[in-house]
Amino acid sequence: MSAAVFRRPGSVVIEERDVPSPGPGEVLVRVEACGVCGTDFHIFKGEAPARPPVVLGHEYCGEVVALGEGVAGLQLGDRVAVDPNIACGRCYHCRLGKVHLCGSMEALGVTLDGGFAGYSIAPVTQCHALPSHMSAVQGAFVEPVACCVHGIDLAGIKPGNTVVVLGGGTIGLILLQLAQTSGATTLIVSEPVQKKRELASELGATLAVDPLSADLEEQVRAVAPAGADIVIEAVGRPDTVEAAVRIAARGGCILLFGVAPEDAKVSINPFAIYKKELRIQGSYVNPFTFSRAISLLASGAVKVEPLVERVVPLEDLPSVLASGPSAGGAKTLAGLNLTRG
Ligand SMILES: [Zn+2]
Ligand SMILES: [Zn+2]
Repeated sequence: MSAAVFRRPGSVVIEERDVPSPGPGEVLVRVEACGVCGTDFHIFKGEAPARPPVVLGHEYCGEVVALGEGVAGLQLGDRVAVDPNIACGRCYHCRLGKVHLCGSMEALGVTLDGGFAGYSIAPVTQCHALPSHMSAVQGAFVEPVACCVHGIDLAGIKPGNTVVVLGGGTIGLILLQLAQTSGATTLIVSEPVQKKRELASELGATLAVDPLSADLEEQVRAVAPAGADIVIEAVGRPDTVEAAVRIAARGGCILLFGVAPEDAKVSINPFAIYKKELRIQGSYVNPFTFSRAISLLASGAVKVEPLVERVVPLEDLPSVLASGPSAGGAKTLAGLNLTRG
């Protein structure tokens, strides 16, 4: 089989490898599709940790084609989405039930071989069965949608709320749709790329604004004079975090979802947080949200097909990673065995 292996920063190569055999408690997944995540670009550039040599790819789905010893609950031919984040189950945070904050987390596609390969080994406990009608593209989106569901849970959107999403990339437009299913009635997306603003409107935004054409706060307050009950930062830049503080309503919540560079700093006036009684909330990965992500995708409540910019063969992955994320943050998928679209 072919596999896209991260060797060192700046170097991802396609290797020919033997198809691996599942050990006890593991299954062999014939990968159908695997999404390229912002994290993959960061790993490629050496900006995010990984454990080379490792097969990248942590957003994938496929068909179970071999079962290791003692595997129960899955059968040959089942289609699954793989939760890449493997918690230790023994540490302080795991025993508090906060498995995503595990101090010894391993991750398929980051520290263990992942889904940018013809086949991938995964512990059966990380595999979530997919309804048969779900497409491979939808299956590859279960992981990022599960991350967004966790963020939306933390944001605490109430029916009738005003929500502003800063950034109309793949993640911003998933968060937009989830905010809508959560009952937000005024949904504003701030995005400089016109094509993305149009897509935001198609996917449920009541207003899509260009933050570069006019003052963002004025544009938001024109339709929501009190400001936004919830501001979702889905860019990961200091200036958008600072803008979030300005456009949040009193008593509002700012969800920091975009991944900022590790050394980035923001300038925030603590008095504004005090006086407006703001809640600033981080969101990290996807604890216990895979099942709901599958339901949201399978039901059509979250649409992901319009978010896919291109589907490329695995062999193109080194050049995709070297060329960096596309403007506007549209999704690239590696299609491996795309018999189901
Ligand atoms: Zn990811
Ligand atoms: Zn742990």
